[in-house]
Amino acid sequence: MQRKNSASRALALALVLAATPVAGAGPDAGAAAPARPRNVILMVADGCGFNHLRAGALWRDGADQFPELASLPVRLAASTFSDGGSYDPAAYWDAGPLGQPTTDSAAAATALSTGTKTRNGWLGVGPDEHPLLTIVEAMERGGRSTGLVTSVPFAHATPAGCAIHNEDRGRYVEIAQAMLTTSPLDVLMGCGHPLFDRKGDPDPTPNYRWVGGEETWNGLLAGTVGGDADGDAWPDPWTLVQEPADFAGLAAGTTPRRVLGLPRVRETLQEQRDGDLAAAPCVVPFLATVPTLKDMALGAINVVDDDPDGFFLMIEGGAIDWTSHDGEPGRLVEEVCSFVETVAAVRAWIDGHGGWRENLLVVTADHETGYLSGPEPADGAWPACRARVPLAPRGKGRLPGMVLNAHNHTNALVPVFAAGPGSGELAARATRRDPVRGPYLDNTDIGAVLQEMAVGR
Ligand SMILES: [Zn+2]
Repeated sequence: MQRKNSASRALALALVLAATPVAGAGPDAGAAAPARPRNVILMVADGCGFNHLRAGALWRDGADQFPELASLPVRLAASTFSDGGSYDPAAYWDAGPLGQPTTDSAAAATALSTGTKTRNGWLGVGPDEHPLLTIVEAMERGGRSTGLVTSVPFAHATPAGCAIHNEDRGRYVEIAQAMLTTSPLDVLMGCGHPLFDRKGDPDPTPNYRWVGGEETWNGLLAGTVGGDADGDAWPDPWTLVQEPADFAGLAAGTTPRRVLGLPRVRETLQEQRDGDLAAAPCVVPFLATVPTLKDMALGAINVVDDDPDGFFLMIEGGAIDWTSHDGEPGRLVEEVCSFVETVAAVRAWIDGHGGWRENLLVVTADHETGYLSGPEPADGAWPACRARVPLAPRGKGRLPGMVLNAHNHTNALVPVFAAGPGSGELAARATRRDPVRGPYLDNTDIGAVLQEMAVGR
């Protein structure tokens, strides 16, 4: 709940960015200005392919699709390869993805954020080693408030690629410091608590790397960390929020000016909790000491939503990817459903705050993880591309027949859903056609459209 000084913050950013060459899509000066949204919400389901969504919908609803997504007017697919890669529909569906080069979350986040492909592992830096204008920087130039929310550490690749520049996604301490001390972000929420372990218990061996080191952590506790976020040349320290009730409380009423939401758990909200990793969804009790992704998202929206120039918020379901790497179908479905529950909550907020006239919502994934397919055919004859085998419905509340055929990312197309001003530009860019997924665009097209929408109205 704050008002930005857009002119001074735009000037401050211009000075910063003038020092380095910056690429990025700008508005087409010759074309009529498209309708622009006040608010832009990008939701990224990390590692989530078409079959992941279907698995979640079959379990939750006994249906092939989530109505929260299927009812959005723009429904497309996107290619995700990183710099030097490609997507060939015939090669994918005839031979399968194994052996094809794939993106990681850093290059994919950079594409969604900047509209430019880069090398795996690189955040907000182009393959020519020049910094790129991130979507957070672009939105701040347009005078908007900005925020990032994730169910994994906030310094992880997807949120970091929206905001900062680093040629190594693994430099977590450095990346967390950049996000906390020099970024203009107004709200940042994610895991990485130094003092609590993956079960939400106090950890006798603290780990400060996700919060920028011990000194930064002590500064956060003291309320002294945080640079100038609103362009008035005065520091804007973070208000630290840790309790589930405090996250939920952020969703209504007045909020602190700048919020760092750090649930009391190490790397994920729920994915790494104890219990049977092979259990069906929601059988192992959830940690009660951490908020849901939905509560974090609604709290974050209420921190940024009073800026008259609007806001940009990226919300990531980050652990869908982790369940798919680790071969955990039950937790995969939990994470997908938690993400879709968050989509539903965001849509309800949009309905009450200007609807599709004022808000652009884009829901997508950064890549597919796990080469998810249906179960082995009865005759044992897998097709060359196993993703052709449909998941086997077993009724609502039961895990469908499904197989994670690989432990890493694939080159599969990912889903894209959108509505609001700018969603038509996405549809217009989907000029290629996949024989199974239909019209598709590239992840850099999504980044380019988001950058176009960043220009102030
Ligand atoms: Zn991954």
